[in-house]
Amino acid sequence: MPANVDMEKIVSLCKRRGFVFPSSEIYGGLGSCWDYGPMGVELKRNVKDAWWKAIVQERDDVVGLDSSIMMHPQVWKASGHVDSFADPLVECKSCHLRWRASEINNEKCPQCGGKLTEPRMFNLMFKTFMGPVEEEASTVYLRPETAQGMFVNFENAVTTSRKRLPLGIAQIGKSFRNEITPGNFIFRTREFEHMELEYFVKPGTDEAWFDYWVKERFEWYIRLGMRKENLRLRQHGKEELAHYAKDCYDVEYLFPMGWSELEGIANRGDYDLTQHTKHSGKDLSYYDGESGTRYVPYVIEPSAGVDRSVLAFLIDAYSEEEVEGEKRVVLHLQPSLAPMKVAVLPLSRNEKLTPLAREVYKQLCPSFMTCYDDSQSIGRRYRRQDEIGTPFCVTIDFQSLEDNQVTIRERDSLAQIRVPIEKLEKTLRAKLSDEPFEKTPLWATRQK
Ligand SMILES: [Zn+2]
Repeated sequence: MPANVDMEKIVSLCKRRGFVFPSSEIYGGLGSCWDYGPMGVELKRNVKDAWWKAIVQERDDVVGLDSSIMMHPQVWKASGHVDSFADPLVECKSCHLRWRASEINNEKCPQCGGKLTEPRMFNLMFKTFMGPVEEEASTVYLRPETAQGMFVNFENAVTTSRKRLPLGIAQIGKSFRNEITPGNFIFRTREFEHMELEYFVKPGTDEAWFDYWVKERFEWYIRLGMRKENLRLRQHGKEELAHYAKDCYDVEYLFPMGWSELEGIANRGDYDLTQHTKHSGKDLSYYDGESGTRYVPYVIEPSAGVDRSVLAFLIDAYSEEEVEGEKRVVLHLQPSLAPMKVAVLPLSRNEKLTPLAREVYKQLCPSFMTCYDDSQSIGRRYRRQDEIGTPFCVTIDFQSLEDNQVTIRERDSLAQIRVPIEKLEKTLRAKLSDEPFEKTPLWATRQK
């Protein structure tokens, strides 16, 4: 049974409430390109912040990086991206695996039996020219993954961080792939954002670290409130593995179109650093002072899609409920992910209420993403906040003018409590940090 909501409802909510719009909409849109609106940009930022916190901030064995999108063309020679797409390929319309046309004999996907596209010569990388002359020598590519930035900066990161292996380099950024079959809203797009970690380890310890990261990444989604029954791990079969990869797992989510990949965790062996050593002529082996040995590190790579994570969090949080005989749509997003933490709502647009309501808003907005709304009936404003997943609404009424108290309404329980304005910020802070899912201390599970 696929997810509890169909994609049309999610697309419609995203449009209606300012999460996601078709790109260049006034010109009729551009195929599979999307723009994140006022709510979407907040949700997406919160997902990326949660990843960065778990991967970089809360660990002393990972450092961050922000490398350029355009890289030396030799990088893509070394990585195999230039050559491995020079053959005529077909793509499965269901599972999106690509096959060499010559490998196919019965017009069906060898993996899942799905229908295949027509064979065509293509490279998945977007090509452009650097400088004023459009010639072969000035060809550059928009990166199809952020990972190569970490490989070519391996030595810079090790040297400047003064850290020993195991050491990870993490990056969040845009990637571009000229997909033949994009689709399913923001699930598969040609321009997207990656959250990638390249975790460099001593050969021989790679399998233990691989297991560690598979578990760690799976649990990250659960810690952020995703329902466990909508998540699964799938190990890649031999025919799916890249030729250099030792092992790979996908974290999959039960989307409306079925189980689909959120993130891949791969054991890439020493392929990447070996390739870059070969192509650049620069020795990228590592001297291990503890054991007095030199080796080419192995790499464990958890690689997640920001956009598809955003989509999964939206789908997972979506709920239609009945409240006092009326239907409400609500996003039960974990507070840390919710675009707005608090909405300040004067009972009506009354000139006596407005000054106090504005004052409350000004008091809260330095601490939390807060919105102010005084249009339409209070009931409709609550519904609007429910639909964007705002955990708390603060209502200012005529009583507030006398007793300096306001009402906090909780999104999930619909409970209402009355608090003094001077205690409002503190009360909300406490409630917002009261996340319903227990956090596993990272260091408790870390392996030596
Ligand atoms: Zn297939």
